[in-house]
Amino acid sequence: MSEQFVYDALPMRVRFAAGSLRALADEMDHLGVRRALVLATPEQSDLAAEVALSLGRRAAGVFAEARMHVPVEVARTAREVAQRLDADSCIAVGGGSTVGLGKAIALESSLPIIAVPTTYAGSEMTPIWGLTENGEKRTGRDRRVLPASVVYDPDLTFSLPADISVTSAVNAMAHAVEALYAPDTSPIISLMAQDGVRALASAVPEIIADPTNRAARETALYGAWLCGACLGATTMSLHHKICHALGGTLDLPHAPSHTVVLPHVLAYNQDSAPQARAALSSALGGDEEAPATRLWDLIRAWGAPTSLHALGMKGDDIATVVAQVLARPYANPTPVTEEGLTGLLTRAWAGKPPPAS
Ligand code: NAD
Repeated sequence: MSEQFVYDALPMRVRFAAGSLRALADEMDHLGVRRALVLATPEQSDLAAEVALSLGRRAAGVFAEARMHVPVEVARTAREVAQRLDADSCIAVGGGSTVGLGKAIALESSLPIIAVPTTYAGSEMTPIWGLTENGEKRTGRDRRVLPASVVYDPDLTFSLPADISVTSAVNAMAHAVEALYAPDTSPIISLMAQDGVRALASAVPEIIADPTNRAARETALYGAWLCGACLGATTMSLHHKICHALGGTLDLPHAPSHTVVLPHVLAYNQDSAPQARAALSSALGGDEEAPATRLWDLIRAWGAPTSLHALGMKGDDIATVVAQVLARPYANPTPVTEEGLTGLLTRAWAGKPPPAS
């Protein structure tokens, strides 16, 4: 074997089972914590209240004000509430926004997080935090924000509408795609990435047909776990850079933007990343030579968005995103040029298919 790599494993404790929400007190015992503040978005406040009720005196309270991209004021208030209620831990029940709030609390207080993911975004497996202040999103890596425990309960995803499930699943796949050609990829990451994409791609049609199909929800959440672990362990490239600009600067919705852009970035990179191309061809099925086209066809068949214009982006914004992406160089298998990037974004904006290579 001629491969060379460095693999630095992150600690991860995962409890995966239908109904595992009921095991939260056991997880608290395992971590040696007494009183947890339960975090959620306003939309999931009933679920948070249910969790707090089931924990009884071990719930310090509920803070159901998590919002997309973690505004710094919300993080500050949550930290104060945790302190006032004498919480020694947080339980984040929800998607990336809620887990992100837990991370913002941990960044300053080091309170351990138990994450209970209800989407496929994957934040629970990463030491990446994000905070938004005056309309600008800052991100960083810090091991203090990596959840101490992750409880995956597929039953909690039954309520995730089919259309959001699809875009969330493609958001998860994006982590795996970029991990496969990351400068710090490794054989174990490739295995996780390939199986993560395979699991998600196989589960999505069944979820569309019946969002309460438990077997499909289990498969998808298993895939999301693997893809999230890929994100936590590697450096992301062009795709995540573009989506950061689309979300942070243009305020486009997170998972739908990932869904539109991913096939185009894959098409841009697949010739320069033959191992990634082979792994994704196998995971997605279809024509061996063209995983980008296969992915675009699947996304269309799943009824998900294929155009940035339809997500609210203006044609003039293409140049803004190009400038922002080019302003800070980063690793990418195919060199990123102004011409190449403009072509890529113009196709993604107009809803055109990625070029066959
Ligand atoms: P989200 O957490 O914003 O959730 C979207 C909406 O769906 C919310 O209203 C939420 O309450 C609702 N929801 C979540 N699960 C549900 C369920 N099972 N049933 C019904 N409704 C449900 O969306 P997201 O896509 O999970 O997360 C996006 C955010 O996470 C972005 O801010 C992104 O930057 C961040 N993120 C961070 C990382 C990281 O590693 N730091 C990784 C991925 C995403």
